[in-house]
Amino acid sequence: MPIFEYKCRRCANQFELLVLRNTAAACPKCESQDLEQLLTAFAVSSEGIRQANAKAARRAAVRSKDYIDKKVADAEYVKKHDD
Ligand SMILES: [Zn+2]
Repeated sequence: MPIFEYKCRRCANQFELLVLRNTAAACPKCESQDLEQLLTAFAVSSEGIRQANAKAARRAAVRSKDYIDKKVADAEYVKKHDD
């Protein structure tokens, strides 16, 4: 469902509107069609998801670094015992 957020340029009313095909968006207060489309809730949440993914990627990178450090430590341990 395409719900868009608008701000009316005439009366500055801010509102969310379900925009259907063949339906012109208009301010529910003054019925002006001079509207400014704002960021949709979908755009905001997908930005949030992108940030969450970036955090998860950083966590994964930290985990793999720990893993590599452990492998290096294991290798050194083995090397010492080979001597
Ligand atoms: Zn208006």
